[in-house]
Amino acid sequence: MNKPHQCDFCSDPVTPNDLSAVIYDTEDFTAPEFNLGFKGAWLACATCAAFIRQYDEGLDDKARKNLARRAVEKHRRKYNIRGMGDVEINKILTQEVARLHEAFWANRKDTPPVPYATMKLEG
Ligand SMILES: [Zn+2]
Repeated sequence: MNKPHQCDFCSDPVTPNDLSAVIYDTEDFTAPEFNLGFKGAWLACATCAAFIRQYDEGLDDKARKNLARRAVEKHRRKYNIRGMGDVEINKILTQEVARLHEAFWANRKDTPPVPYATMKLEG
C-alpha cells in the first residue's frame, strides 16, 4: 500500500477522500538557505489550500502569514521541538517558513490548482 501523501505546507496526511486538497504545479527550485530542493508540484491539504485561495483571491492579506503559522504549529507538534513554546522562536520560525512559502509563490506555474482526488501521483 502506498504511504499516505503529506501536505507540503503543514505535513498533515492527505488522502484521495480529501476532496478539497489540491495540487499546485510548480517549477523545480532550490532554497539553498534552507538546504532544500523541490521538484514539481506542491500538495496542499484542504486547510492550507483555503489559505492560499484566500490570499490569491485577495480576500485575506494575512492568509499567507496564517499559512506559515499553521505550518510552524504543526511541525512543532509533530517533531516536539524544544523551545517552540517560546514566542520569539515561534516568530523567527514563522518568518523562515514564510520565506520558504515566498519561494513557492515565486515558482508556482500560472495554472489553476488541480484537485488532488483526480490526480494519480507517483510514490
Ligand atoms: Zn496543509
